[in-house]
Amino acid sequence: MKAILAREFGGPDVLKLEDVPDPVAGNGQVRVRIHAVGVNPYDTYMRAGGYAIKPELPYIPGADAAGVIDQVGPGVTGFIVGHRVYISGTALGKAHGAYAALAVCEQHQVHRLPPRISFPQGAGLFVPYVTAWRALFGRANARAGDTLLIHGASGGVGIAAVQFAVAAGLTVIGTAGTDDGLSTVKAQGAHHAVNHRSPGYLEEIVALSGGRGPDLILEMLANENLDHDLTMIAPGGRVVVIGNRGRVQIDPRKIMTKDAAVYGLALWGIPEDEVRRAHQAIIAGLESGALNPVVGTEFPLAEAARAHAKVMAPGARGKIVLIP
Ligand code: NAP
Repeated sequence: MKAILAREFGGPDVLKLEDVPDPVAGNGQVRVRIHAVGVNPYDTYMRAGGYAIKPELPYIPGADAAGVIDQVGPGVTGFIVGHRVYISGTALGKAHGAYAALAVCEQHQVHRLPPRISFPQGAGLFVPYVTAWRALFGRANARAGDTLLIHGASGGVGIAAVQFAVAAGLTVIGTAGTDDGLSTVKAQGAHHAVNHRSPGYLEEIVALSGGRGPDLILEMLANENLDHDLTMIAPGGRVVVIGNRGRVQIDPRKIMTKDAAVYGLALWGIPEDEVRRAHQAIIAGLESGALNPVVGTEFPLAEAARAHAKVMAPGARGKIVLIP
């Protein structure tokens, strides 16, 4: 089969399309013919070699994909050849193995994809939607009526969070850095969309939340924004740090005086029971129509290096997807 292989850690150019032997489904495993692969920012951190999870070289990147089961190993129940599925990791690793034409997965790593959802949409489900669900309902205790700021709402996790939060009855303010990004955020049902590159946008957010500030903030770039978040958060508010690319200086007094809390989140550390609940919430939302993954750009699998450059560039508007 064709697969993207990284034989060393480094820049996007280490990603090469190669021919590798077809994998075979073993005990308790299924093989998925991949129709679309989701590209996530962490794929680039792992490729560069500095990520918390460092696979043995050579490795096939990626944990997000969607396709059709084409082989079922012994002992598998509930899945047959022909089922449409999205995956959450592969048998090669919970965070890699998906940038390929075929992937073998443990049974718990495959999830039925409702007919109304396309394969490119299905490729953007696991990492973004499980992260967004955990941030909202597992960390921030989101409840109907809360005002939520999604600081970075135009990318994979942000869009997922907008859709979950709108369906749950929160008032949603989402930020983006371009006009396309802002329209994408509004199209998901966000009540307000604000440009995080406009001077004065923080004051605008406070005004939009009735002068109190947001009750909850999901933060995609904590190294730039965390101190500002603590300035504008409402009394008793919660900030969830999802994305961070450096160090930041904060004034802890703001946490004290606001009676606020700052939570962290790491997808790979979410307890198994919570991950199962997240997938149940995702599938229910896909079936009801509340959740609709947004595909921004598609590249052929061979152009994984270009996709890695793009996912780190400004101007997000949905998922970047590779087509094998
Ligand atoms: P993405 O699709 O690349 O989207 C990035 C988002 O951040 C876009 O909305 C982008 O908006 C926004 N952004 C850029 N500059 C910003 C700023 N100064 N202030 C606020 N937002 C800004 O990435 P993603 O998949 O949504 O992931 C978002 C972040 O969370 C990444 O850093 C990723 O590594 C991390 N993440 C962490 C976990 C975890 O387990 N903790 C899980 C998934 C993702 P514009 O491009 O329009 O400026």
